[in-house]
Amino acid sequence: MLLGAAVLVACVINILYGRYTMTTDEILREKYEIRPDTPIRPWRTIVIHHSATESGNAALFDKYHREKMHMENGLAYHFVIGNGKGSGDGEIEVSPRWIRQLQGGHVDREEVNELGIGIALVGDFTKSSPTPKQIESLLGLLRELQADFDIPTERIFGHREINSKPTICPGKFLSMDEIRAKLRAGAAVAAMPR
Ligand SMILES: [Zn+2]
Repeated sequence: MLLGAAVLVACVINILYGRYTMTTDEILREKYEIRPDTPIRPWRTIVIHHSATESGNAALFDKYHREKMHMENGLAYHFVIGNGKGSGDGEIEVSPRWIRQLQGGHVDREEVNELGIGIALVGDFTKSSPTPKQIESLLGLLRELQADFDIPTERIFGHREINSKPTICPGKFLSMDEIRAKLRAGAAVAAMPR
């Protein structure tokens, strides 16, 4: 996937310029475009949302969160996964909040926002399912974030599973049990002896 390709390119560039080793911190910074002077947050959980709109993208949600919700840091999520209406189907957009390693603004509990990575999928999953490409991108992104920040599958939640107030987000057509089962099945296959 794209993030993997970015790391490969970064490694090749380092080798070309005579550097043969990278620290874990450097790899994470290269991979996620995090500036050297920005501390990387010790992320502990991941929270999945739907946009509750038929279409959209990071720029549109940023405008909405800034202007209508009066959030000074704009887009409340760290990643947005498109559905082909407003951005590419399965395209992962990286939020400025992630680049700047700012806490999220996607849950009504501050302790979750502080160390919880927010991922929003474009779509209204009270009415229809995510696209297969969105699910594929979501699983790929979750696996990378889990590996990079040592986040176990049981700490990946749907918004409604972790909010204080009741919410339907991310909708009945996005089953978190199914997402977690797929992550566990993938991890079991990866751990099998070859
Ligand atoms: Zn939500």
